[in-house]
Amino acid sequence: PKDGSVLPSDDSVKVVVRIRPDQEKVGHRIVQRISSDTLSIGDQTYSFDSILDSGSSQEDVFNLIGMPLVKNSLAGFNNSIVCYGQSGTGKTYTMWGPPSAMVDGQCINSLQGIVPRIFQMLFSEINKKEESSEEVQTNYQCRCSFLEIYNEQINDLLDPTQRNLLVREETKGSFQVENLSEEYVNTVEDVTQLLVKGLSNRKVGATNVNSKSSRSHVIFTCVIESWCKGLSSKFFSSSKTSRINFVDLAGIGDNNVDGFSRQTVQEDRFIKNSLSKLGRLVNILSDSAHQENEEKVPRVDSCLNNALQDTLGGNAKATFICSIFPDERYKAITLSTLRFGGRVK
Ligand code: ADP
Ligand code: MG
Repeated sequence: PKDGSVLPSDDSVKVVVRIRPDQEKVGHRIVQRISSDTLSIGDQTYSFDSILDSGSSQEDVFNLIGMPLVKNSLAGFNNSIVCYGQSGTGKTYTMWGPPSAMVDGQCINSLQGIVPRIFQMLFSEINKKEESSEEVQTNYQCRCSFLEIYNEQINDLLDPTQRNLLVREETKGSFQVENLSEEYVNTVEDVTQLLVKGLSNRKVGATNVNSKSSRSHVIFTCVIESWCKGLSSKFFSSSKTSRINFVDLAGIGDNNVDGFSRQTVQEDRFIKNSLSKLGRLVNILSDSAHQENEEKVPRVDSCLNNALQDTLGGNAKATFICSIFPDERYKAITLSTLRFGGRVK
């Protein structure tokens, strides 16, 4: 990159595919993991950064994606995790964990999702760093917000009275959602409380596959600020800010439009449109790494792209988790999910 700031490095986008476990009454299984980074579907093979098979645990997901994310965040990089895929394939399960794993203020069992696990590690690393007072003293402060994008409208999930919020471009390519509430967090319990509260305010609708299918994109954001000062004679001080976006996207492609209300059809149009713009944005960002052409990046495009701008491209690191069903019944949507994963790479 010419100016070293806006273009992604080669490992700035990672794509991991997670194959959901078989359901009880499924058809023929056609997706197979054939190595750590390759799967087959029928007679075709696809390669990504990693494949997590049906038997993978929540801990496996954390070890692969969460641990490096915490290290990057504490080193001052912006990061995001984006869950993409058909409804019912486990986006919400992967991100937050099933509802049973999240009791208000508690998130302790083996099913907990990658987000609570990340905060567990993040706070424990922060405590270690704050306590190890040799030459420098470092202090951290974390604050979180939670928003939903529904029909190109941004709603505050922590304060449901705040709807249709505006996005302002602060500096080139850096967007701020006006009046979005932020809460300081110090413990995993603080975070879990926000998750439970926010997720209960999320828009859901009934579709074929998953009656609780989510019709909105949600983004849980954590901003980590740190101050560092020297304790010895060589006095110095500095501060760093990094941001993590956790994005649970609306489910794709599960609407067989017949029999659905006009509302659902319109929701579907917004969902498809924003997802295809997201794919295009990430695609352009990856592309421009080679072409050194930053001008092509559309800066004002969709609510989703604006909200993610800080954690895509540049020195930011994004991991897409594409989740799929293994069975033949959903082959067409699975292929389209895999193509999306291939396109963002
Ligand atoms: P999505 O958010 O993609 O629509 P969900 O996360 O709601 O899908 O998952 C649908 C159902 O499947 C839920 O009951 C969830 O608990 C279950 N599920 C999803 N992934 C897994 C998995 N890897 N292991 C066990 N159950 C899963
Ligand atoms: Mg979901």
